Amino acid sequence: MELSLHGKKLLVTGGTRGIGRGIVLAAARAGADVLTCYRQEGEYADSLLRVLKDTDGDHHLIRADVGRIDEVDRLVAEAKHRFGRLDGIVNNAGVISHIPFAELPAEEWSRILDTNLTASYRIIQQSLPLLGAGSSVVNIGSRGAAAGIPLRAHYTAAKAAVIGLTRSLAKELGPRGIRVNVVAPGVIETEAFDAMPADRAEGLRATYARKTALARLGTVGELAGPVLFLLSDLSSYVTGETVNVDGGI
Ligand code: NDP
Repeated sequence: MELSLHGKKLLVTGGTRGIGRGIVLAAARAGADVLTCYRQEGEYADSLLRVLKDTDGDHHLIRADVGRIDEVDRLVAEAKHRFGRLDGIVNNAGVISHIPFAELPAEEWSRILDTNLTASYRIIQQSLPLLGAGSSVVNIGSRGAAAGIPLRAHYTAAKAAVIGLTRSLAKELGPRGIRVNVVAPGVIETEAFDAMPADRAEGLRATYARKTALARLGTVGELAGPVLFLLSDLSSYVTGETVNVDGGI
């Protein structure tokens, strides 16, 4: 059996940087047609567009803030217009902040939940008419949601709720042949590490290396692999699961 996404139409949120970019490029190389979105204009969006243009397939990159319901609806309408159907969705776009709980403003609580949780609710709901039997939804969670992380109560609350959403939808949508799973990353090295002072990046690498069985951080490609498996027909009997991709934390 071979992993192929040939002919599949995918919507991946937050594809310009980090894990999302890795998923978009891996999916495109596996034969999928991909529509992805981003929030901020800039070099990351421009460079993804250039790479996608050189990749076989029907790929689209649009600006849409998934933290806003109206923009989510526009994004799904764009997927319908471009593809007519969806065979897979990856709810990847996420935001994080580090704030003591006692000082956490209500606006920040809402901002983090809107992008990390509410976006998934709305995207899946609005996409239902486009999702047929055999389609697959992958929600990107976080390994830290199960453990809890100080200063990130809002983020971990959202990511833990993604697991509840996923398990309920797996049961509710399973009879229609729609699978719903979570991939929960541990610490994956993205461009964010390049933007840090070198000593801080090295410190983080050393800390997480000590905490994982594999004694290192993960790569974007290593996260994309399990996501592609869940999008593909190789996982046709897997639903409601949370796949931890964390190097054995
Ligand atoms: P990055 O910050 O590197 O990239 C996030 C991507 O999502 C960017 O393309 C960004 O676009 C886009 N994005 C963010 N907010 C929005 C929005 N409101 N609307 C549209 N696009 C948006 O994140 P990571 O790659 O590190 O994380 C990806 C996912 O994995 C997230 O859900 C995160 O919580 C999860 N995760 C990551 C871990 C890690 O170690 N990296 C660990 C655990 C979980 P733009 O640049 O335009 O804002």
